[in-house]
Amino acid sequence: MNAHECPREPEVFDAIASGAWLTDRHGVLRTHAASCAICADLATVAATIAEARTQSLGSVVVPSAAATWWRAQLRIRRDAIDAVNAPIRMAQWVAAVGVAVAIVMLILRNWASVAAADPAIGWGLLLPLAVAAATISIATPLALCFVMSSD
Ligand SMILES: [Zn+2]
Repeated sequence: MNAHECPREPEVFDAIASGAWLTDRHGVLRTHAASCAICADLATVAATIAEARTQSLGSVVVPSAAATWWRAQLRIRRDAIDAVNAPIRMAQWVAAVGVAVAIVMLILRNWASVAAADPAIGWGLLLPLAVAAATISIATPLALCFVMSSD
């Protein structure tokens, strides 16, 4: 037998794990643990762990099975809705970018004829107008996407 093992060690551990150690029913094991250094160490450590477990079980509030099932159903439903909305959200982003590009292209394409028709407008107004149109055409769909996704 190894000097670091005791044949009664499993009995001591089982008694502590089952809570029978605290009763007087295992007085024989307590007497043995008082005379055996290995079992005394085991009893000290295992009793501390068992006491901590008992204390933590008293403070734990376990939700009911119905509440747990209901939360799981909500999570499943929310995940399914997110999965369905993902392509729609992507389409909204693509549409927003497409609208922005179309507006900028429309302004750039027609600006020469507008400037030729009214020389007072000139080319100097093109850049601020293009920036304003691009900002509005990008910011509006982005704001709508943000508001709609926060539901
Ligand atoms: Zn022992």
